[in-house]
Amino acid sequence: MKDVYDVTIIGGGPSGLYSAFYAGLRDLKTKLIEFQPHLGGKVHIYPEKFIWDVGGLPATPGHQLIENLVKQGLTFHPTVLLNTKVEHISKQDDCYVLTTQTGELHYSKTVIVAVGGGIIKPMKLELEGAEKFEMSNLHYTVRGIQRFQDKRVLISGGGNAAIDWACDLLEVAAHITVVYRGEELPAHEAHVKKLKDHGVPIYTHSQIKALVAHPNRSEIAEVVVENQQTQSLMTVQPDEVLINHGYNRDHSLSYDQDIEPERDEAYNYYIMTNPKCESSAPGLYAVGDAVEYNGKVHLIAGAFQDAVNAVNSAKRYIEPEALEYGMVSSHNEHFKAKNKELIKQALKDKQPQ
Ligand SMILES: Cc1cc2nc3c(=O)[nH]c(=O)nc-3n(C[C@H](O)[C@H](O)[C@H](O)COP(=O)(O)OP(=O)(O)OC[C@H]3O[C@@H](n4cnc5c(N)ncnc54)[C@H](O)[C@@H]3O)c2cc1C
Repeated sequence: MKDVYDVTIIGGGPSGLYSAFYAGLRDLKTKLIEFQPHLGGKVHIYPEKFIWDVGGLPATPGHQLIENLVKQGLTFHPTVLLNTKVEHISKQDDCYVLTTQTGELHYSKTVIVAVGGGIIKPMKLELEGAEKFEMSNLHYTVRGIQRFQDKRVLISGGGNAAIDWACDLLEVAAHITVVYRGEELPAHEAHVKKLKDHGVPIYTHSQIKALVAHPNRSEIAEVVVENQQTQSLMTVQPDEVLINHGYNRDHSLSYDQDIEPERDEAYNYYIMTNPKCESSAPGLYAVGDAVEYNGKVHLIAGAFQDAVNAVNSAKRYIEPEALEYGMVSSHNEHFKAKNKELIKQALKDKQPQ
């Protein structure tokens, strides 16, 4: 027998996670499907960066925001599938059918598309055997700034993300070297100036040619860099190697023709909706970075509003007589028992040891 969900959310970033929370608040049987092995979406690109512009949260590092989003997103115990890519959406009678990369089928009365900018994968070094160093000192993002404390760091890449990291690590690392294959770093001028002012060696027209392993450990001991203009080689002995060559995006989610949602004209990527996040296909909604409408804000703060609107729309699509909005959380019956637990815990914490 088909297990039909009320709402299936594709994508476990901020918009998908908040949709999962709000769908639970509105008593919808909810499934969340995410391609990556983890929830949190593209905040995983900048886990150590401080985020200042989410309402009610003073400066919070990305990894902390992910932790909070996941905790909140799982409040009502939605079904969560990780490592699962939704490849196609079709409709049979009144039921959406989602097909995954393994051919598995998922059935749902409504769908919330929360795929952000698609599936993002860092562009990896195209050197044989490089992947084995990913367990040690080859990085594609900064997961913990302490890791770089007092280390010699080689950064490959010249875009904003690479140079931004170089600037941040200036305060922490013992030494930084930048290699970039182009002529001039395309990053913000002020950041490039900061590196130059600090005397950071920047090798342009250069790229990593080989990684030499430590004789006794499975880590990079030496990096061979080639100047592509002169074909000359130099070696660098970094403790850590950080690669930021940009990202590949996979936008391959497809739809049956009769439910193909309208797209924006400029990029043919964003799903066009009204401000309630309703697409041209009834019962199919889009939220967060995947959606565009007049007044849309492509920020985490905007993703939360989309999630509430999409879930409220889905609720009324399934139950037309349901209230248009969910009850505010401060007076919502769903949280009564949980509030009691929290108060009990707070009193316990207050008691002298
Ligand atoms: C470097 C950087 C810094 C930023 N800083 C800020 C900031 O300071 N403040 C702020 O408000 N915003 C910031 N943003 C933007 C913010 O990260 C996004 O607005 C937010 O992540 C959008 O959330 P989302 O859930 O819509 O999409 P995403 O976070 O992109 O999540 C989408 C998820 O969907 C998954 N997915 C995609 N396709 C499929 C599929 N077919 N099947 C299954 N899963 C799929 C992806 O794997 C991903 O996990 C920043 C962005 C970047 C890149």
